[in-house]
This record gives sequence, structure tokens and C-alpha cells, in this order.
Amino acid sequence: MEAKWRSLVNHIQDIHDHDTPAFSSCAHGPLDGDQCNKEWLDPGSLAAVKLENIIMRTALLKDVRQLSPQHQTFSLEAYHSLILHFAPKHTGFSYLGMYSRLLLAALHYNHNANRETARRSDGTEKYCVRYPRFKKGAHVVLPIKEAASYGYATSLMKALRESYTNSPSALREVSDNLSSDAPAPIAKSFEQVPKEEAVSLYLAR
Ligand SMILES: [Zn+2]
Repeated sequence: MEAKWRSLVNHIQDIHDHDTPAFSSCAHGPLDGDQCNKEWLDPGSLAAVKLENIIMRTALLKDVRQLSPQHQTFSLEAYHSLILHFAPKHTGFSYLGMYSRLLLAALHYNHNANRETARRSDGTEKYCVRYPRFKKGAHVVLPIKEAASYGYATSLMKALRESYTNSPSALREVSDNLSSDAPAPIAKSFEQVPKEEAVSLYLAR
């Protein structure tokens, strides 16, 4: 686990073979086409050095050694599917809408992360068997958790009602501030070429 984590420093600099026998090459397979044209960090650049310092922090490495290979994958997959639940891809949300939905997903996740294992009436714990893709056909046994709860939503609604009762205008101001924080659309950052210039360049080619 630690060797895999350390290999991150190489990977971000477009180096995918590593000196450690425990993890001698990246798990992603050969890169081709667009996959090679990522904005890799230049070895020795300020960004690469800063990121390396973060990745290699002793306290962090100690934590990485404690990770279980199964548990994190499931938590992460569960979190990603939760985001899709709150912000489905087939709907385009405004910046504020997306921001709020991501916060809701995080609240829901944190509120329900430490659920107890569900039990039958005789007190025995419930389990299920799954065949996750990363196990390539092998199975894993997972405890079935108690049903999720939505207590955070009640707290949110209470807080919202309180702020509104205190000062509707203050609440509106917060909302306006959040909306005005929205970054410009990505397309705005592209440099626009005058149409005649673009056409004459095209014809010259
Ligand atoms: Zn790699």
C-alpha cells in the first residue's frame, strides 16, 4: 500500500516504472494516444517538489500503511455513487446548485458513515456477498449496514428557518454572495480568434 502511494510521485511526472519490488509499475497499463498527452509535472519543478513534500510526509505515510485495500475502495465507490444520487449527470445544474448538491452528498455520507451492521431478529449480523470489478471475479463478504438516516436534513431545515426568522435579508445576502462566487464558464477562458483570421488560416493550410 505504501509503495503504491509513493509511486504517485513518479506517476505525476510521467514515470510509470518504479524501483520498489512491492509495486514495480503503475496499475493503469500502457498509456497511448490522449492518455500520454496529460499535463505531467516537470521533474524538479516547484509544483513537483511541493507535491512530493506533501505525498512523502512521514505522518501521512504512517497512515497509508494502515489502510485496508478493500475498505477504502468501497467507501470511495459508495461516495461517488452518492454524488450521482444527489447530482445526476443527466441534469445540468447551476454552479450554486452543483455546489449545494456536493455539500449535501458530503453531509449525507458523513452522517451515515458509521452505521452499525444490521441484525436479524435473533441478533445475528447480516452479510452479503459481492463480486467487485477490481477483484476480477473473486468475491468479498460485506456487512449489511442499518438503513440510512436523514437527521442532517432536519437540522438544516431548522437552521434555515432560524436564520430566516432572524433576518431574511441577511440570508438573501449569503445566497447572493455564494452565487457571485461562481467562476466564469470554462469556454470564457479560451482565446477567441476573429472569424476572418481563422478562415484565412484554414484556407492557407
Ligand atoms: Zn503511472
